[in-house]
Amino acid sequence: MTHAEIKDFLAFAALDRLTPDEIHALEAHLREGCAECPADLAEYREAVGSIAFALEPAATEDRIWNSLQSRLAATVPQAVRGTSGSQMREAGGRRASGRIGMWRAATAAAAAAAIVLAVYAGVLTSQVHRIAGAYQQEFVVIAGQVTGMRGQLDSARAQVATLEGVLNDRHRLDRVLLSPDLRLIRLDPLPPAPQASALVAISEARHAAMIQALKLPPTPAGKTYELWWITRQSGPVKAGLFTVAKENTVIAPASPPPAGEHLQLSAVTLEPAGGVSKPTGSMYLKGAPAYE
Ligand SMILES: [Zn+2]
Repeated sequence: MTHAEIKDFLAFAALDRLTPDEIHALEAHLREGCAECPADLAEYREAVGSIAFALEPAATEDRIWNSLQSRLAATVPQAVRGTSGSQMREAGGRRASGRIGMWRAATAAAAAAAIVLAVYAGVLTSQVHRIAGAYQQEFVVIAGQVTGMRGQLDSARAQVATLEGVLNDRHRLDRVLLSPDLRLIRLDPLPPAPQASALVAISEARHAAMIQALKLPPTPAGKTYELWWITRQSGPVKAGLFTVAKENTVIAPASPPPAGEHLQLSAVTLEPAGGVSKPTGSMYLKGAPAYE
């Protein structure tokens, strides 16, 4: 066989679709030391390898061949139309008895075109996968950012709610402080918090009371500060609960003292979270109303 004839079936050789005679002829030609065919064959083999890669996971040579055959079915008519009659007759005569019937008659150019198409499809497929992968990574990053922003929004909302609570309490304190029947009790520090102090404001007309405490230690976990009214008739009566954060300053609402009872003292103790009905913990602040 001539170099040109060998060159024609290199694409088939890459797909292991040669007859034994063709294999012998190819091997003989390569032994003679052709300068072109080994490189072409290597290129076709590489292309077939790429197709196998694109068709993963179960790519077999038969699958590649079936895939190429279906592509050839679409490609051959144009390729054959572009071939001169004598070339066609020559090609047909040479390969009509081949194992693969009419596809054997297709020119090597058509086979090569089919390989190129298949490789191109494979390249496109892997590009699509790569791009999809990149978008997915980007999506994961953006989703993470959105989650982070949601967290920030939630903590901002919590801060706003806290500030609203502080403002409401301050507004209530102002209302109590401005009431005509205002009574103030100064609470003085006891040994657990020697720097602390507090002011308790009571308005029976407004049925309200407030405590503003300064420099109390932050409330320990599982604990709460509890404000008490101590009356001659009832002893200690629960007035309200509050906690102190890092800032050491707090304004908190409280129930007014029992109506009609003689208030002797007001005090703040540290109690289990949720509060208790009679004092059990250390006393932090204590003060008596100024009567008469
Ligand atoms: Zn050659």
